[in-house]
Amino acid sequence: MDNPLREELKAWLEFYRELGIEDFYRREPGSVKLPAGFDTARPASATAAPVPQQMASPALPPKVTVSPARTAPVEPRPAAPPSSPSVSIQPPVSSFSLFEAPAAPRSGPETLEQIRQDLGDCRRCKLAPTRKTIVFGEGNPHAELVFIGEGPGADEDEQGLPFVGRAGKLLNRMMQTVGLKREDVYICNVVKCRPPMNRTPEKDEVDACSPFLYRQIESIKPRLICCLGAPAVRTVLGIREGITKIRGQFYDFGSTKALATVHPAYVLRNPREEKILREDFEKIRDFLKNT
Ligand code: URA
Repeated sequence: MDNPLREELKAWLEFYRELGIEDFYRREPGSVKLPAGFDTARPASATAAPVPQQMASPALPPKVTVSPARTAPVEPRPAAPPSSPSVSIQPPVSSFSLFEAPAAPRSGPETLEQIRQDLGDCRRCKLAPTRKTIVFGEGNPHAELVFIGEGPGADEDEQGLPFVGRAGKLLNRMMQTVGLKREDVYICNVVKCRPPMNRTPEKDEVDACSPFLYRQIESIKPRLICCLGAPAVRTVLGIREGITKIRGQFYDFGSTKALATVHPAYVLRNPREEKILREDFEKIRDFLKNT
């Protein structure tokens, strides 16, 4: 093979290697019509590089432009001669593409839809067999305020939405009293499946589910998180002290602030405690107004 052809073949092989294609199969000599100049007379046992199928078309590697929003940057490679055609490849959003690097860092924060898709028909913990519906979360994906409860109850399990039962009605009323609208905030839970008999979620269940919660927070990037009750405080803030002791205070959660307060269900069981929930909601209002 003469030198220009050798260089051209090398460029093709490098191009395919950059795309992660390393394996080429060999066709029987003569079964592929190669561009003029390629040595087709070589025996099958010869050691020369196998020929990629696309070589049947005598063109240099196409210049690939990949949409930067959805893919990792592609390593720059030697520019092709000016005569080579420019091919713009738009990778599909959801199916695998040769031009997407699955292990590469993401170019931006995940969307809630992507996280939901990744959760799928989750079977990661022992809550899956008894749940009816996964309660992923609901609300404004760009909310300034995220409420985190404990886990879905019977109504939530039925409807697939968080805080739609009695505790939800109280949460709605508390928001109203301080001028917050439910549609402006985001509401989710430590676990996304109803624990049997509404028991407290167990450690292995929280461990399986909380990565999705953290990803939701990371996606929304709220200014304030409100942890409703001890399981949310434990999961998000790692604080194990009694909720009535640590409620009403602001904590740091990365660059976001977090406020701990009692769970609305606690107030339903102890109606005289409504004033402390109201007090904490006033703190939320003041934080969002003044910070
Ligand atoms: N209690 C919770 O902790 N979450 C809900 O979604 C409903 C009730």
